[in-house]
Amino acid sequence: MTQTVCLNGEFLPIEEARVPVLDRGFIFGDGIYEVVPVYGGRPFRWAQHLTRLKRSLAAIGIDNPLGDEQWTDLVHQLVARHDWANQFVYMQVTRGVARRDHAFPQNVTPTVFAMVSELVPPPAAQIENGISVVTLPDERWLHCDIKSTSLLGNVLARQAAVQAGAAECVMFRDGFLTEGSASNIWVVRSGRLFGSPKDNLVLEGIRYGLMAELCERAGVELQLRRVLREEVLAADELLLTSATKEVLPITRIDGRPVGTGKPGPVFAKLHAAYQQAKAA
Ligand code: PMP
Repeated sequence: MTQTVCLNGEFLPIEEARVPVLDRGFIFGDGIYEVVPVYGGRPFRWAQHLTRLKRSLAAIGIDNPLGDEQWTDLVHQLVARHDWANQFVYMQVTRGVARRDHAFPQNVTPTVFAMVSELVPPPAAQIENGISVVTLPDERWLHCDIKSTSLLGNVLARQAAVQAGAAECVMFRDGFLTEGSASNIWVVRSGRLFGSPKDNLVLEGIRYGLMAELCERAGVELQLRRVLREEVLAADELLLTSATKEVLPITRIDGRPVGTGKPGPVFAKLHAAYQQAKAA
C-alpha cells in the first residue's frame, strides 16, 4: 500500500515528502514526537497521547502549531487513508528551518510531520516465551521525561542490545532501574508490581496510567519507587510496555532466566486485561 504522510498540512506519498537541510530537527534533533497505536481505526488512549505531545512541546519552548481538533483530525485523516486493520501514528514537530545557530531562532514556523504505519502486534512466540534483554548503564541526558527526537543515547543502547542478541536493554543509573531504550520496564516481586518513579530519568509512557488501571482491574498491587539493580536481577517476573509492544514478558536478562524463565502469572493477568482494554 502506498504510504501517505502529512508534512506541514500537505498529504503526499512518503517518497515525495522533503524537509530542508536546515530544519533544526535534522541539524540539532531539536524537536519532539509522539507514537499512538490505532486499533480498528480508533486511536488508543488518544487524549493521553495528545496531552503528552503538548507537554513535550511546552518543555522545549515550541508553540503548539495545531489545536486539539486539528491534531485529532490529522490523525483520523491519515488513518482513513490506509486500510491496515491496526496502525500506529508517528507525529513529529521540530522548531523549524533557520540559519544554523544553537539559540532559538525568532519568528520560525515549526515543521509538522505525521505518518502512519501498519501495527503488527508482537508475535505469539514472544508472548508465550518472552524476550531477552541485557542490562546497560543509562548514559542519556537528564531530561528523559521529554519525548525528544534527540535519541542518540537510546539508539546506541538499543544497538548494544541487538549486538548482544537481545530484543531490548534495561538501563540503570546510579544502581537504580530507569527504563528500556524504547519502553518502560516493570518488576514483579512477591506478586506486587514495581515501576520507576515518574521523574526526569524516564519517559512516562502512556502505559503508566494504563498499567495502573489494569493492575486495579487484575487485583495486582502497583508501586512506583526507585528499584535497585539487585531487585531487578532477582525479580520473579519482568515486563516491558510500549505503544507498539503493548505488554511483553522478559524471560532472560544478561543470558540468565528471569524467575522460572517462563512468562509468569502477573504477566498473564495484565496481558489479558490489556487485550480487554484495547477491545473496549
Ligand atoms: N520509554 C521510552 C524511552 C520510550 O521511547 C517509550 C516508547 N515511546 C516508552 C518509554 C513507552 O512509552 P509509551 O507507553 O507511551 O509507548
